[in-house]
Amino acid sequence: MENILIALVSILSLLILGLFTIIAIFVYKYIKLKEKSTEPVVSFQDKVSPEVLEALNVAKTARPNIIGEFCIDHPDLYAKGTCAISNEAYCELCLTKEEEIKVARKFLDLLLDTEWEELYMVNNTVIGADKLNELFKLKKQMWHDDQIPMVAHKQFKLNVEDDKIETYTLLKSRVVDKDQLLEKFKFLKN
Ligand SMILES: [Zn+2]
Repeated sequence: MENILIALVSILSLLILGLFTIIAIFVYKYIKLKEKSTEPVVSFQDKVSPEVLEALNVAKTARPNIIGEFCIDHPDLYAKGTCAISNEAYCELCLTKEEEIKVARKFLDLLLDTEWEELYMVNNTVIGADKLNELFKLKKQMWHDDQIPMVAHKQFKLNVEDDKIETYTLLKSRVVDKDQLLEKFKFLKN
């Protein structure tokens, strides 16, 4: 009986010893882990070359260059729309509306003092994206390179047959430029 007791106590002692060893290992590992995390961190700046840092800084501070994102005159203000004359993006402060035509305030006098004539009225869906892009590209070119202003603005019409709203682009020019521009934009003719 005594022998059995001694054997039991021995086994228990061994078990407890084993348990302590396991706990000790875990504590040791935990302390090591803690030490690692408090090691001074090598900063990102020390690891990369100045060229890479410079490129990163440029990328971080660069403004999105997408047309329509920011006002062309207020680079920190979001654009609200594009001017019917210059087709550039402007913020709420810069844009005004004259008979449903959105125009930059700085071009309002030009819009009001000019006698405009309709050149082409195109159905956006019928004409397709390629020709519309071409229209605006050419219009911009006339404005910037030849200082010939044109007005392009959207119009909406209800198609009674299938009860759908269709979008049209109305293109106007000064009376003096009309003949020349009718020819230039004749690809809009169907
Ligand atoms: Zn603005």
